[in-house]
Amino acid sequence: MTPPDNKKIVEERKELIKEVLKAYPEKAAKKREKHLNVHEEGKTDCGVKSNIKSLPGVMTARGCAYAGSKGVVWGPIKDMIHISHGPVGCGYWSWSGRRNYYLGTTGIDTFGTMHFTSDFQERDIVFGGDKKLIKLIEELDELFPLNRGVSIQSECPIGLIGDDIEAVAKKTSKTIGKPVIPVRCEGFRGVSQSLGHHIANDMIRDWVFPRADKAKKDGTLQFESTPYDVAIIGDYNIGGDAWASRILLEEIGLRVVAQWSGDGTINEMLLTPNVKMNLIHCYRSMNYISRHMEEAYGIPCTKYKLNLDITAFSSDQTLLILNFVNFGLKFNPYLSHDKFSRSGHIRRL
Ligand code: SF4
Repeated sequence: MTPPDNKKIVEERKELIKEVLKAYPEKAAKKREKHLNVHEEGKTDCGVKSNIKSLPGVMTARGCAYAGSKGVVWGPIKDMIHISHGPVGCGYWSWSGRRNYYLGTTGIDTFGTMHFTSDFQERDIVFGGDKKLIKLIEELDELFPLNRGVSIQSECPIGLIGDDIEAVAKKTSKTIGKPVIPVRCEGFRGVSQSLGHHIANDMIRDWVFPRADKAKKDGTLQFESTPYDVAIIGDYNIGGDAWASRILLEEIGLRVVAQWSGDGTINEMLLTPNVKMNLIHCYRSMNYISRHMEEAYGIPCTKYKLNLDITAFSSDQTLLILNFVNFGLKFNPYLSHDKFSRSGHIRRL
């Protein structure tokens, strides 16, 4: 077979971009041009401009920082109640917009598809919403006593009026005796949902891991470590993909201690600083916390993508295994038959 002529392909694609740009008004085309390019061999990237604000008047499908935190990172943690804090719209229009499959009984021990909002009114904007938020958290805990914690997902007005959600989180955490995580992910903070991922990761670092560290220190963390412990990071189980990955990883002898955050639980998050390696699926949304775990706990991380053809190891799986070996991890060929495997019961210790 004749090898493809790369130079010709690049030229053809450049022509295509020119043709597309002809459809824009001159001023818009000039701006748009910076975002379209073709990758050429030998160059590190294709040199397009990114991570800048969308132009007013231009159609965009971008989310906001709130969408990145509530919709992507925190929302799928199934046994927590995630409050869309602010006017009803942000929560309502993003309600069930993303699919994150989970196992559990909705409204009893899992809350992923439920919509909780503080439903801000004019009065709350003028006088502040902290008291309302306290009442809401306490009432929710009474109504859904099996929840394992609460997260406060701030919408734009909360940042503008300067409510003290951190103080509310500390106070209510004591009254309900569970983690309450304040997330300052007001939509206006970043140019897209990407900053929301970052803020959400930072809140895990600042509000979840200190609890885990404390529990480890005072001996209340119930965790039996093995040399085969890994965590799946940045897989949201949108089509059941985290489940498939989990099975494959356990087939090759690893013990999956946590899934972040599709079909995940707060307890898995608390156990993650004990794993031997983090496997990152979506790097964009969770590289921050993985790098933090590398620095703070010495947990190496690697990107991975598994081929779902379970009849044979793919080159991706071989690569993954090589990565494990490079990091000094061992494989336990019998793990998939022992008490820790598959059942998933370790995830709720
Ligand atoms: S940008 Fe602000 S107001 Fe709009 S959806 Fe996001 S949080 Fe809500």
